[in-house]
Amino acid sequence: MIGDIKAVFHRSIEGKIKTVTVSKNKSNQYYAAILFDNGIDKPQVNTEGKAIGIDLGLSHFVITSDGSKFDNPRWIKKHERNLKIKQQQLSRKQKGSNNKNKSRLKVARIHNKIANCRSDFQHKLSRRIVNENQVIVVENLAVANMVKNHKLSKAISQVGWGQFCTMLKYKAEQEGKVYQEVDRFFPSSKTCNVCLNQVGSLPLEVRFWNCANCGAKNIDRDLNAAKNIRDEGLRILTSELGEVSSPKARASLTSGTGDQACRQTVRRSNRGRKKSTTTLVSG
Ligand SMILES: [Zn+2]
Repeated sequence: MIGDIKAVFHRSIEGKIKTVTVSKNKSNQYYAAILFDNGIDKPQVNTEGKAIGIDLGLSHFVITSDGSKFDNPRWIKKHERNLKIKQQQLSRKQKGSNNKNKSRLKVARIHNKIANCRSDFQHKLSRRIVNENQVIVVENLAVANMVKNHKLSKAISQVGWGQFCTMLKYKAEQEGKVYQEVDRFFPSSKTCNVCLNQVGSLPLEVRFWNCANCGAKNIDRDLNAAKNIRDEGLRILTSELGEVSSPKARASLTSGTGDQACRQTVRRSNRGRKKSTTTLVSG
């Protein structure tokens, strides 16, 4: 029997509580995730409205097909420097000593702080993207696979794209918007968005390039990729519906209606689950 516990609620509970999951993190903070049924159906999915493609880059955290570039907040770097110092201090403490335990808790607190900063930033950015668009297309990076590539691994695991995409997905689904992933082998960087010509190779350090086929100059590598991701997502969505699948039709869709998701409203059967979650923290 625990008795009453003081807790901070992040939002009110509306409906019937299904489950409560209590967890503790390494800095000894307790969380309770409450799953409840609010009785509201998920909205019907429709693709009518603005579509956006998102390139998850190394030069920036996120580059959109609108030409916006977003970076991780700078103060995360500051916390990371602090983390490095505290980790070094920890490694010098004697095994099993009281000081080692204290030092370990300090390291855990900074880890926690960095994770909180990052998820706060990602929540705000994903909220903004979902609010402003109807169709959100991202590259399926299979992050786990890419992390094996040691050159990219540090940068990739640090920025936490997987978590960001999860946020985009559930926020979109809550509002009947469409989250679409495109295959990671799709050549989003090497295809000219103007003429759909593919270049043979494009080393990572090339940030701007010219298309020899159509003569487009100074193509921004990341922006071009984001536009191709958007168009590829729209192609998948439209061909799923048996509407547009030939390359010629695709070209007309991508060049003519780049900002429009689909020409007609699409309804897919995706009703039924009535779930919502909230979390609270107790000190
Ligand atoms: Zn071209």
